[in-house]
Amino acid sequence: MIPSMIYLIVLITSSVTAETPDTSSNSVKIFHTNNMNSQFEPTMYENRSIGGLGRIARYIRTRKDKEWILLIDSGDFFGGSDWFKLTKGKISGEMWNDGLDDILRIKTFGEKELEYGMEYFLNYFRSEYYAWTVCANCKSEGIAKDFFSPFKYLRELGITGIVCQRKDFIQNILNFTNPIPALLAVVDEMRKTNKIRIVIVISHCGYEMDKKLATDMRGVDIVVGGHSGEFLYTNPPSEVIVDQQPAGPYPTEIMGPNKRLIRIVTASNNAKYLGSFLFTHTSIVEKWNGNPILMSDEIEEDRKWEYRM
Ligand SMILES: [Zn+2]
Repeated sequence: MIPSMIYLIVLITSSVTAETPDTSSNSVKIFHTNNMNSQFEPTMYENRSIGGLGRIARYIRTRKDKEWILLIDSGDFFGGSDWFKLTKGKISGEMWNDGLDDILRIKTFGEKELEYGMEYFLNYFRSEYYAWTVCANCKSEGIAKDFFSPFKYLRELGITGIVCQRKDFIQNILNFTNPIPALLAVVDEMRKTNKIRIVIVISHCGYEMDKKLATDMRGVDIVVGGHSGEFLYTNPPSEVIVDQQPAGPYPTEIMGPNKRLIRIVTASNNAKYLGSFLFTHTSIVEKWNGNPILMSDEIEEDRKWEYRM
């Protein structure tokens, strides 16, 4: 169960400026979100305005000209909240798309995306809001045919997704196979391409499941997770105020097959944090730097949602 309380981190020096961009050619910057649940409005915490889709989108835009950015969403982008029901996700979708229309984006999806059925989901995502949807273990027919790609190549990255089997998905249109065999087949196919150095899996299986599955993820380097929405954080400095302990380190490291280290990340829930990591690589991940960034009131907010209410 995801705690509804906010994990508030206040840094004496703002976390917003904590990272120094690495512009070397083998560096990759990833922003990632999960379990946003259409939270377009900020949450108030001790009289401070925290998070919200518009704030996250605006923050990403401020970084756009400084480095190559890829934005990943691990599902449950909408649905599951009163904010979603108000407009069936239109406000959150428009805010996200307007603010990030020229940012590279890739995602998988969760059960909440299907709250209004398959057709609504497909129209929503196919039309504009995300460039690509990947899923290695989804089998789709009828109106969903060809909607998912098993993987995408982006520069030296091979990116795929897995969605764990759940009864509440629409089984007659979408079918899910066992994620590990499907994933391994896709990873093998991607790795046949010499350009691919790093494999990223976008998972909508949940943190605990990701940790279990990672031990079988041959050839995978990074898992960007969603569904359970844990807050992960590593080495908080003494100035940090955290009113609930992180569920694990960011990244959580699991030794995969062939002694290849797999890093699992996830970024809390309800649009309070933006997951952020930067790594350099050769054939494996070398230097790594990252932590979720609190979307605090130091970041200007896009308040377009007010006009739509
Ligand atoms: Zn989910």
